[in-house]
Amino acid sequence: MKPRVAIVGAGWAGLAAAVTLAEHAELTVFEAGREPGGRARRIDLDGAKVDNGQHILIGAYTECLAMMRAVGVDPAQAFLRLPLTWQMVDGIRMRCPRLPAPWHVALGLLGARGLSWGEKLRLARALDGLKRAGWQVSPDRPVADWLRDTDQGGALTDSFWKPLVLSAMNTPLHRASTATLARVLADSLGSSRAASDLLLPRIDLSELFPLPAWRWLAERGAKLYEGRRVRSIEPDGAGVRVDGRAFDAVVLAAAPYHAEPLLGFDPDMQRAIQSLRFEPIYTVYLRYARVPRLPAVMTGLAGGMAHWLFERGALTGEQGMVAAVISAASNLVDWPREAVLDKVAADIARLDPTLGAPLWSRLVVEKRATFAATVDRQQLNSRLNGIQYGYLAGDWLDPGYPATLEGAVKSGQAAARALMQEWTRQQ
Ligand SMILES: Cc1cc2nc3c(=O)[nH]c(=O)nc-3n(C[C@H](O)[C@H](O)[C@H](O)COP(=O)(O)OP(=O)(O)OC[C@H]3O[C@@H](n4cnc5c(N)ncnc54)[C@H](O)[C@@H]3O)c2cc1C
Repeated sequence: MKPRVAIVGAGWAGLAAAVTLAEHAELTVFEAGREPGGRARRIDLDGAKVDNGQHILIGAYTECLAMMRAVGVDPAQAFLRLPLTWQMVDGIRMRCPRLPAPWHVALGLLGARGLSWGEKLRLARALDGLKRAGWQVSPDRPVADWLRDTDQGGALTDSFWKPLVLSAMNTPLHRASTATLARVLADSLGSSRAASDLLLPRIDLSELFPLPAWRWLAERGAKLYEGRRVRSIEPDGAGVRVDGRAFDAVVLAAAPYHAEPLLGFDPDMQRAIQSLRFEPIYTVYLRYARVPRLPAVMTGLAGGMAHWLFERGALTGEQGMVAAVISAASNLVDWPREAVLDKVAADIARLDPTLGAPLWSRLVVEKRATFAATVDRQQLNSRLNGIQYGYLAGDWLDPGYPATLEGAVKSGQAAARALMQEWTRQQ
């Protein structure tokens, strides 16, 4: 007999759990939003369809890519795939050639512009030190301390480490975990050349996985509810009640701050969740009368308001549109929106002085975009106490990784597999 499984939350984690379980369970998926996708989806912004935030994947996100293929999305069509490239207008410029690892990084670094030979040597030494330590850092310490101890000051910090840590971990350097950074580096620079490739979406985030997954699940008979916020999850003998309806198992795949109020039966988990901290990401969309002349499709700014600019025309065909990303933006919470928009427009005007003012600009604020990948982050268990077949899924459950789509997808797959194993064992 197939178990009746409720999945609460149709972000990338919940959808990955649902797709993994589809053949083995009678599925019901509850999604609070009007559409699936959670923190990586298309939104309606005053009549314009935009992503809730510019996302980047890397070649190492193999489980994301596998899930996309499973629901009929071809990654070769869905992404612009670039060899690892680092284009800071006011800092380091590096492009890793298509050579086997580790030569791609070695030659990329050797040919990097904007760094002295001394700085290149210090950067290579720091990376080599991490590699020799098996990409492990123990005891963990803030990235700012590790940068100081490994002599990574000046341009190395300002135009390499800081933008890297902000974009990969969405956490300021003085709080970011060096152990987590080392794992990100192991998966990208320390792995195959293909793993370090940048994958920039050519289609909107909803079509990248959430909507194809939703359609795929519907075709397989899953019961799918949009605009349906679950209010209660309660243990019920060997099963569970979700808003009063009986199920054999539940996968709670909401973000931690939405999962926490539903976990009254598991106070330890509630306390663990309360210890998490979050960081905002601001994304500014600006549309111009013509295509802005930016040095690259993804351009970094060490000294700008925005950290990265993406030329959307070259990616998604939205001609004249730029997406500007400001990570770990907690320092901006008191800023008026107009001031942020003006500053970002000024960043772009410096790069293309004849461009003129944007015809349209909007700011998307994701206040709790990701948890902060800090040194003292508590390890969380994805198994719920009090419900026999109860699991958590979400980007926040891997103790050593920052919040990523890959982390979300892997956690969903892991919850689905653990549930099936246990169910099969007990029947
Ligand atoms: C602006 C921004 C930029 C980012 N950039 C990147 C990037 O470049 N690369 C990368 O890898 N990652 C990036 N991330 C992180 C990535 O988006 C997340 O890690 C991922 O989307 C989290 O997926 P999730 O399924 O774990 O959680 P969520 O996406 O939060 O999904 C949870 C779902 O549960 C639903 N829900 C909540 N409560 C209930 C309830 N009670 N009942 C029913 N449904 C409920 C929510 O509506 C939501 O759909 C970014 C995130 C943001 C916000």
